[in-house]
Amino acid sequence: MSEEILAETLTIAGDIKNQLKFYGEMGLEDVGGSARAFDKTHSADSAHSISESPSAEVTLSASQDLRPEGQFRTDDHTPERNSQTEQAGLFGEIIPASQQITQRRRPAGVLSMESRDPSIDAIREDIGDCRRCKLHEHRRTIVFGEGDPKAKLVFVGEGPGADEDASGRPFVGRAGQLLDKIIAAMGLNREDVYIANIVKCRPPGNRAPERDEVDTCEPFLFRQLAFIHPEVIVALGSPAFQCLLRTKEPITRARGQWRDWNGIKVMPTFHPAFLLRSPDKKREVWEDMKKVRDYLSTKQG
Ligand code: URA
Repeated sequence: MSEEILAETLTIAGDIKNQLKFYGEMGLEDVGGSARAFDKTHSADSAHSISESPSAEVTLSASQDLRPEGQFRTDDHTPERNSQTEQAGLFGEIIPASQQITQRRRPAGVLSMESRDPSIDAIREDIGDCRRCKLHEHRRTIVFGEGDPKAKLVFVGEGPGADEDASGRPFVGRAGQLLDKIIAAMGLNREDVYIANIVKCRPPGNRAPERDEVDTCEPFLFRQLAFIHPEVIVALGSPAFQCLLRTKEPITRARGQWRDWNGIKVMPTFHPAFLLRSPDKKREVWEDMKKVRDYLSTKQG
């Protein structure tokens, strides 16, 4: 075996070991079965899961002002069949088509906010080299969000941190690596989902975004969500949850309970950054993610 192959094998083995350790922390017992995407036999089950949050239980000042919902109109997506008949799971197991999440076409029409062009690219173009709020003063990069614009599952976080500000990509730091593990535990890849934040520029010193900043930035997130029109939005932590739901309800009370955002199901859960500080909460997050996984498994086609 060449040194290169040996090094690669060791790296892969290390990755698998880490993921298995993570499953253990979540209380996920049947790794082979549980890692299989949307295995219905696990829907109402026993052990398992994850949990989280960024600025711990930060209360978002911006969320204290309740605004009317339904600011935009979205057209329904047409179901699209997944062209693959089978795909490999996290550990190489074959996931039958019946257990895969299928992707959907983008909606025919969309919102009435700012641009008439509904595409994700148009939303990014409308943001431009944004200077609408004071966050632009310290940011290096606008972190727009990334992933599959036809995703059935969207994760919404609070705002970019230092790593995200440097790279221009959401959730790439330590919290992001934990989010990747959570996504993998659900039997998905990062590319299958969409990931965004309530504000697109890093708040200095990783402070929570302020109300005026959220008010300025959230319309762009809402346009992204309305365009993608996923089956489920996972709100990661208090700021995301409180922003989307226009509530002051603490995430500690809301997590694990289905909520609604303009007709789209919302699952509030802890933020991965909170999990880094409170690993004992991973099990609760996993309970929440199983609900999401099981709901998505009923939404084939
Ligand atoms: N925390 C967030 O809320 N978002 C990111 O993109 C990274 C960390």
